[in-house]
Amino acid sequence: MTRAVDVVVIGSGVAGLSTALGLAATRDVLLLSAGDGSTPWAQGGVSAAYGEDDPLDHWRDTDIAGAGFCDPRNVRALVEEGPQRLAELIAHGARFDRNADGSLSRTLEGGHSRPRIVHAGGDATGAEVHRALRAALQRTSVRTMTGRTVGLVQSDSGSIVGVLVETGDQLTQIDARAVVLATGGIGNAYLASTNPSAVRGDGIALALRAGASLVDMEFVQFHPTALHTGETSGQLPLVTEAVRGEGAVLRDVHGRRIMEGLHPRADLAPRDVVARAIEATMRRDGSDHVWLDATGVAPEVIRRRFPTVLASCARIGVDMVSDQIPVAPAEHFLCGGVRTDRNGATDVPGLYAVGEVAATGVHGANRLASNSLLEGLVFGRRVATALTLELPAADHGRSHEVALGEDREAERIRTILSRYAGIRRDGAGLNAAADELDTAGTGPLATVARSVVAAATAREDSRGCHWRSDHPHSDNRWDDHIVVRLDEDGRPTTRQLQRSEA
Ligand SMILES: Cc1cc2nc3c(=O)[nH]c(=O)nc-3n(C[C@H](O)[C@H](O)[C@H](O)COP(=O)(O)OP(=O)(O)OC[C@H]3O[C@@H](n4cnc5c(N)ncnc54)[C@H](O)[C@@H]3O)c2cc1C
Repeated sequence: MTRAVDVVVIGSGVAGLSTALGLAATRDVLLLSAGDGSTPWAQGGVSAAYGEDDPLDHWRDTDIAGAGFCDPRNVRALVEEGPQRLAELIAHGARFDRNADGSLSRTLEGGHSRPRIVHAGGDATGAEVHRALRAALQRTSVRTMTGRTVGLVQSDSGSIVGVLVETGDQLTQIDARAVVLATGGIGNAYLASTNPSAVRGDGIALALRAGASLVDMEFVQFHPTALHTGETSGQLPLVTEAVRGEGAVLRDVHGRRIMEGLHPRADLAPRDVVARAIEATMRRDGSDHVWLDATGVAPEVIRRRFPTVLASCARIGVDMVSDQIPVAPAEHFLCGGVRTDRNGATDVPGLYAVGEVAATGVHGANRLASNSLLEGLVFGRRVATALTLELPAADHGRSHEVALGEDREAERIRTILSRYAGIRRDGAGLNAAADELDTAGTGPLATVARSVVAAATAREDSRGCHWRSDHPHSDNRWDDHIVVRLDEDGRPTTRQLQRSEA
């Protein structure tokens, strides 16, 4: 069966919904989804600098958290356009938490120099953002379809001209002038992640197969405080950074403060710093968790602000009002991804990427807390604007399929990536990972895993969330980006890209 539309958007998280909504009035759009991604799980909030806050300060915090490796112009777009996108979201009906005087309640999170995180339902911001965007989309003519995109259609001259969608045992081809990947991150390529299972890097694998470049794939962010439930694989509940924003502190298994004296912002240091400190503490103590102590936070604040975390803790028998919370780092966010320009265009005609799957450089080497929902809102709109103004030229030439393939050894791939490309990496381990992945097939998880390993092997320094114990310092010989592409045999190859070209 074949259908045709102007634009196919793959993914119904904040980025895909924002893109589809922005195109609704001007283009015939089909939104595809394989289920909920990370968006409805987001807890802490959306960052936005408005009023007495200054987008320039937000810019600075983003760049500091990103280890000075951010794309300055794209960060500027993020922080300057962010408040307007937030206001539109409110106009669409999103209900954010408010103070008694009616103003938006804003909290502090790691790496931010002032409280600028807007939140909803206490710690259920993603669910409210998702609800409001979906409700707004239902008021438009955008059509939706549930199914996994298992391939792209590429003209023999190289343009992407459609997608292949699997629904049950039926395969449907949908022709389109533009295809937008909004498929989220790569959580499912690791054993334990805060991401749900639909987030498995399909967009990354499809883009690579179609000839697109990836960039900054070595920068995989580990959230410092996933709840230590005793499970070592699958989706782990998150304990939002905002708990530390309200005063909670990290302690080792002996009860000693971990972050005191390690960083000027102590427990609110950027995520990479906190995650590394926890990993080092756990290794030193031979423990599988540390404690997050929120007992100093007023019980009414905990109940009002953190109902989701409170409930997750209760499920493992922990009362976060009076007990310490067992936490450990877990894979959380991909800072790199499919290389795009500021309007989502990849280096393959007709193929766009937006949200967590895309690398615009706004996160540098380490994402600032609560900048990701914002990225989806801002860059989703930018892609929509670009495709409203101009669609790629129609290409009616011969075409072929670019198939996603299948992973037959998913668990083995996750084990390899988690073991060798976690918070702490080294050359010997990364080489071992590459060898072991050699026999792991050509499915999407294997492709994603090889790309992360190739980029992490190439970068022989440490910055942001890429930490090489054999090259523990940042080295300006590595100020370039690492680009990954597939060679003719389908293997990832890397090259350095000067920052001025990125
Ligand atoms: C627990 C948790 C808490 C977080 N808290 C925050 C926070 O407080 N603030 C913040 O800014 N960020 C937060 N983040 C990060 C943020 O939620 C994500 O980065 C963001 O929501 C990603 O949005 P997205 O639209 O790019 O992708 P997602 O929301 O992950 O959506 C991906 C979509 O792609 C679809 N998809 C994937 N592959 C296919 C395929 N082959 N075919 C069809 N569809 C496909 C999925 O079904 C899904 O609909 C959090 C993340 C997690 C997991």
